[in-house]
Amino acid sequence: MTDPKEHLIDWLRNAYAMEKQAESMLKAQASRLEHYPSLKGRIEQHIDETLSQQKLLEGCLDRLGSSPSAIKDLAARVAAMGQAVGGMTVSDEVVKGAIAGFVFEQFEVASYTALIAAAKTAGDADTQRCCESILPQEIEMGRWLLEHMPEVVAAYLERSRVGEDAKR
Ligand code: MG
Ligand code: FE
Repeated sequence: MTDPKEHLIDWLRNAYAMEKQAESMLKAQASRLEHYPSLKGRIEQHIDETLSQQKLLEGCLDRLGSSPSAIKDLAARVAAMGQAVGGMTVSDEVVKGAIAGFVFEQFEVASYTALIAAAKTAGDADTQRCCESILPQEIEMGRWLLEHMPEVVAAYLERSRVGEDAKR
């Protein structure tokens, strides 16, 4: 028998590891982008959101008598993707990065949706509220990336066509 709270704590620690990975992926992307100012600006905004999400998760774990964990399990697999994107040097890295960024946000959306359900079942209203405040930020970042995908691709193709530095 396992108390729902045990699972909740485990998943909160995974979410913290996920947000650490999000931070390093987003920072790597933002620092490399040169010719796509609106994408860079939106990523920088999401770095700020990601740092405050980490603080919120730390608060939840602290209240539950636990602490953040190192990357493990599922988070480790997402981490591998994040690292691949962060260190990308392919010629179309801006496009591949936007696609991978969108996928990462969907992973976060599903993770917080699961956490909200777990917090509800465990009767932890504070954790539920905390995750409910984070979820819209992930939905919105994913939505923004999808909505702006066509213009990122168009800008990339045009820069590439006229021989300008296009990759990032
Ligand atoms: Mg996040
Ligand atoms: Fe996110």
